[in-house]
Amino acid sequence: MERNILGYRCSKCERMHYPNRARCSACGNIDFTTEPLPKNGVLLTYTVLYNLPPDFDVPTLTLGIVQLDGGPRITGQLRIDEPKSGMRVQGHIGVVRKDNYKTHNGMIFEAA
Ligand SMILES: [Zn+2]
Repeated sequence: MERNILGYRCSKCERMHYPNRARCSACGNIDFTTEPLPKNGVLLTYTVLYNLPPDFDVPTLTLGIVQLDGGPRITGQLRIDEPKSGMRVQGHIGVVRKDNYKTHNGMIFEAA
């Protein structure tokens, strides 16, 4: 089964929000419907993290902010050797972190 992250679409103006909010940031409406966030989009910017906490099992981690197609901006991990702002990316839900007790899932982007 394909896994998804749910976004919150305003039932009045149809703006998509993630994470959820009490009121729509565009029109102030308080009714939302949930639907899966789009997974593809454009990489806006990124950063490479060094000196990660010990529960990250990798030497460095690249985080990017992606403008999803028809959706909000979202932060996710990049699995891209040479990321460039403006490039197309495709996302999926995967394990972004493990500790002794739990695995944490999140959005992971690769070059489209
Ligand atoms: Zn709205």
